[in-house]
Amino acid sequence: MAFQAPNADLLPRSTLIIGDSVEEQGSGDLLAHLYPGTNEVTREFRMGAPSDVDRAVEAAQAAFPAWRAMTGDKRRNLMFALAALLEAESMNLAPILIAENGSVAMTAGYMGFDGANKFRYCGGWADKLEGRTVPTWGGPAHDYVQYEPYGVVGVIVPWNGPIFAATMVLAPALAAGNCIVIKAPDLAPYSVMRLVELIRQAGFPPGVVNLVTGGADVGAAMVSHPGIGKIEFIGSGTTAKKILASAAESLKPVGLELGGKSAVLVFADANLQDAAKRGLSGAVSASGQGCVNGTRLLVERSIYEPYVEMLKAMAGHIVVGDPFAKETMIGPVISEASLARIQGMIQRGVEAGGRVVCGGAERLGGDHAGGNFLPLTVLADVPADSEVFRTEVFGPVLAVTPFDSEEEAIALANGTDYGLGAYVHTQNLARAHRVAGQMMAGMVQVNGSGEGMTPCVPFGGMKHSGHGRLGGIEGIREFQQVRNVWVNLQG
Ligand code: NAD
Repeated sequence: MAFQAPNADLLPRSTLIIGDSVEEQGSGDLLAHLYPGTNEVTREFRMGAPSDVDRAVEAAQAAFPAWRAMTGDKRRNLMFALAALLEAESMNLAPILIAENGSVAMTAGYMGFDGANKFRYCGGWADKLEGRTVPTWGGPAHDYVQYEPYGVVGVIVPWNGPIFAATMVLAPALAAGNCIVIKAPDLAPYSVMRLVELIRQAGFPPGVVNLVTGGADVGAAMVSHPGIGKIEFIGSGTTAKKILASAAESLKPVGLELGGKSAVLVFADANLQDAAKRGLSGAVSASGQGCVNGTRLLVERSIYEPYVEMLKAMAGHIVVGDPFAKETMIGPVISEASLARIQGMIQRGVEAGGRVVCGGAERLGGDHAGGNFLPLTVLADVPADSEVFRTEVFGPVLAVTPFDSEEEAIALANGTDYGLGAYVHTQNLARAHRVAGQMMAGMVQVNGSGEGMTPCVPFGGMKHSGHGRLGGIEGIREFQQVRNVWVNLQG
């Protein structure tokens, strides 16, 4: 028997929200969206087209002068009103998130609160975005720095955490006084649709946030559109390269939040029980489809075997199954194509010398057969030059590799093209700071597994994981341009 399918009546229908117009059908490709838990169609509708992007940019440009001029306290109040709505809607958002990408109920129920936190944090900044004065060199002068929004920001988000990514960008960009054109991703469109519906409901002026649901053609039209002042892209490195090539034509600034292959460094002096539990989170969080998941476990050799045994024992308690069930920790992966790609990576990981501790490349049958379900796979003894050590899998797969010294652990952790997250497990305070300070990653957590990633801290990547930061004051500055004004005070 297959798992239950989502109730289509609960899914939002606002494919386009442009200015004050809400439209159920766009003028682009027909989308038959699939629920990854059963591979049944949730809804069919026509998405937006590049011509809809033109309309959305026009609406955003029209709204911009008034939004820029609105005083910070009023922008703050709107953002707080939206936060309250997101919180109140949390339970209704959960089935939407589950339907769009197979998120599990255990985390889907939290996403409204997470979005609310971001709008509260950034709303709190909206009336405090001061400039500064500069004591200049030379003659009597008054010099000051002002911060200016870009105008219209184009926002492109991925399918794996659409509302998480959208709120991470919209909250700072709006606080800074920008208007928005956002693309809801074709593989998981519903939560961004609902978010923009709530933004309208909260009373934001029409045109401040515009939505075009669509695929690559809509994204590409946003990047090349002369009316968009900045692109914020969250997605894969492959797409980022295309976006940068296109943006080069118009010299458009692009913020990039890309993939990762984050290392978890477990030293012999760590709290092993805790480090093993947290080690599994890389496979569990977003069913292994999270950009910042710790998916490479580097373990000091003296505790290597007991740690691997602990992982195996704990993995036996992780429930893979129906995303709607409250006990489920790992749901389906997004698509059949993704499942086949992950299977290939597991197989090649084994061929490269990886030892299967649990799981494997075979998809789950029985109740799971209709959806895209894989078991939690732990591969031990994974060589540092293998694909599964170096490349983002984006599925519930952990690679475990031993190390002999702190230096080797650091070299292994930094030994991929990515630089998004790193997790250090040790009870030695000096080692914790010493190692953290050498991680070439934008986010380092000591004895943590993601809980420190709150709206008040900057988040982003180094190396191929991107550049620019979302979160904290850095996230707001990301959506402001700097103007310096020098005034001659000589009589
Ligand atoms: P993707 O790059 O395939 O797609 C991302 C978005 O770009 C989608 O909305 C897609 O429609 C759009 N797009 C595709 N081609 C385009 C083009 N030519 N021009 C403009 N837009 C285009 O990525 P994905 O598979 O949706 O997402 C998974 C990736 O996102 C993973 O690598 C993951 O690590 C990364 N990610 C990063 C973060 C972060 O904050 N660093 C967060 C979530 C996901």
